[in-house]
Amino acid sequence: MRAVVLNADWDPKSDFKLGSKDIDGKLTYLGSKVWRNPRIEIVEKDVPVPGPADVLIEVKACGICGSDVHMLQSDDAGYIFYPGLTAFPATLGHEFSGIIVEAGKEAINKGTGKQFQVGEAVCAEEMIWCSTCKPCADGYPNHCERLEELGFSIDGAYTKYIKVDARYLWNIDHLEELYGKQKMFELGSLVEPTSVAYNAVIERGGGIRPGENVVILGGGPIGAAACAVLKRQGAAAVILSEPSESRRQMRSEERRVGKGSRSRWSPYH
Ligand SMILES: [Zn+2]
Ligand SMILES: [Zn+2]
Repeated sequence: MRAVVLNADWDPKSDFKLGSKDIDGKLTYLGSKVWRNPRIEIVEKDVPVPGPADVLIEVKACGICGSDVHMLQSDDAGYIFYPGLTAFPATLGHEFSGIIVEAGKEAINKGTGKQFQVGEAVCAEEMIWCSTCKPCADGYPNHCERLEELGFSIDGAYTKYIKVDARYLWNIDHLEELYGKQKMFELGSLVEPTSVAYNAVIERGGGIRPGENVVILGGGPIGAAACAVLKRQGAAAVILSEPSESRRQMRSEERRVGKGSRSRWSPYH
């Protein structure tokens, strides 16, 4: 299978110090201080072999995140823009959904307590958390001491098949009834960025009280998702501020479409 792989040179800036969790020459939490001369390569890779707790997914939809772009963009000295956890080479793509084509015996769906089945539609968390360290136990898996990230430090979904431990998977089959198969996969690929917005405005930002007014600065996908989340949370007015004319138009178009199709959301909200 072909995979879209990002590669770059490990060439730390003079002020960079290897962190306690960094691995010299391979992995860092400060990508923009280390990785130089990024380039995208399309390479031939073997289909991954799932272990007993893994599921093999045929990718059906995968978004392009701002961080995907920032891993390829570089400053004048050639260092990548993206400042976070990275280990290259890695197949990019972390906002995805797909169909299960193989499931290990211990690949349990935590939603049902049963083994995942071939043919189920799923999306996946991007953070590969360990479950046993203190931040994980405290309910902050994104602060995991042994964190890996799909599409950043381990292979992601810009390819045909991806292997993921079942604990990071969520079934999305119920979306088919509402939206049809194709839209189901597209919406499945939006779960991860929408979760980013949810975590920001509800979990970490503390949410709002019903009837409050909200201003969101930035109408990119995450800002638009935050807008939707806060409307559901009971905001009286959500004002979206966006300097780009084309993006403003896109968002006001979504608003008109959204109004007309509001009832489609009713089974869940
Ligand atoms: Zn992302
Ligand atoms: Zn952990």
